[in-house]
Amino acid sequence: MNPRELVPPGSEIAVIGLARSGRAVATLLKKHGYNVYASDLASSPETGRTAEQLRALGISVEIGRHEFERIARAGLVVTSPGVPPSAPPLAFAREMRVRIASEVEVALAFLAGARLIAVTGTNGKTTTTALIAHLLRGLDTEAVEAGNIGTPLSEIADRERHPKWISLEMSSFQLHDTPSLKPDVGVLTNLSPDHLDRYPTVAEYYADKARLFANANGDSAWVVNGDDRSVERMVRDVAGHKYAFSLTDAEAPAHFDERSNQLVILGAPLLDRRDLPLLGSHNIANALAAALAVMVADRSHQTPQARKGIAAALRTFRSLPHRLELVGEFGGVQWINDSKATNVSSTAVAIDGMERPTVLLLGGRHKGEAYTPLAEGLKRKVKRVIAYGEAAPIIATDLRPVVDVVRLGSDFDEVMRAARAAARPGEAVLLSPACSSYDMFTNYEERGERFRALAAREA
Ligand code: ADP
Repeated sequence: MNPRELVPPGSEIAVIGLARSGRAVATLLKKHGYNVYASDLASSPETGRTAEQLRALGISVEIGRHEFERIARAGLVVTSPGVPPSAPPLAFAREMRVRIASEVEVALAFLAGARLIAVTGTNGKTTTTALIAHLLRGLDTEAVEAGNIGTPLSEIADRERHPKWISLEMSSFQLHDTPSLKPDVGVLTNLSPDHLDRYPTVAEYYADKARLFANANGDSAWVVNGDDRSVERMVRDVAGHKYAFSLTDAEAPAHFDERSNQLVILGAPLLDRRDLPLLGSHNIANALAAALAVMVADRSHQTPQARKGIAAALRTFRSLPHRLELVGEFGGVQWINDSKATNVSSTAVAIDGMERPTVLLLGGRHKGEAYTPLAEGLKRKVKRVIAYGEAAPIIATDLRPVVDVVRLGSDFDEVMRAARAAARPGEAVLLSPACSSYDMFTNYEERGERFRALAAREA
């Protein structure tokens, strides 16, 4: 889309939400001469500071409320990733037939020259997005990671020089309102139920994920999980070239060969598993997806020289914080922070990757999924579950038949004391909560940092 097509001349653009994305897109639009009205329900000191900065640019800002009438008169409403499509100002805008676009949709209008690899899926998005940018940089190509991963795309669009490649993480909410997304390569990591607290049904959540493929044509390239039936169903009728990655299927263009212990891409071994410095087989899947996406993105990424560059970059990639991050070994006990595991399927892979008898910290705000799919892994790897937070009663009911469950309240210090008392030398304590953190923390980062600090404190 051409930026000039965003709104009719003279009309206002309403930006909903003033966290990092909202702030970035409001700034971008103002710099390009648009009239911007930005509002946020929160009136925290941080939002207040953002409001001051934006007002200094000449943006009209309101905090503590949204002016619905003004939103209804806007030529365009811009959403931030943290604001669900059902939020009242968005529902109202939709009712009033005002066009709604995500922050990403707006940023894309200003990034016409950049090449794009877009990543979505239930789990592994951030890791795969970061890997892709890291591998591209390993090829001496200018590349950045953006989107849900942390740097809003509008911040990239606002830079004087645009990078050649953008690795873009897209959440389902962002996909919902990004109709012009047409990546050079689209990656779908996997699909499983999530966000049932924000979507009425799994089908509606999956429908948003499917918007990755909305502009598919015969030239499109898609990198998709070959081991996931829901992914297979979703992409069956999508136009374009589909490249599968698989942990088991030797026919897949990217696969793991268990006998030789090699990650094999496009017909040749690329890397020995032991040279990939990440825990868990799900990370082999993430590495396969990322390497395949980079290689199909451009023919020049498939030469023997380029393959060497990609393999070297895989060797130097380090796990991201809060994702099966080894915090340390204290008194013979490993403490592992997987605070980013906020749904049942991500906790399942974490349990699967454990190599020691494990004390598992499970809990937080319940998101609607049953915990029973964890049963098999728990039986094999986990000696005790410490269930805490709002979800503790449901976890206890679901899991008591298969594993020793201690039920606690919402005092995280007490949870950590119980973990310390339960773990013996040679064992591990894993925080992989399968729930959101919002009942006890601001976000998953704060939860992971508390875990890290408390694990080290009494060591
Ligand atoms: P996302 O951005 O999709 O939330 P992350 O890369 O941040 O994904 O990983 C979040 C959590 O999901 C990790 O802590 C890990 O437990 C789990 N995870 C990562 N990759 C995968 C994968 N490919 N399949 C299943 N679970 C995964």
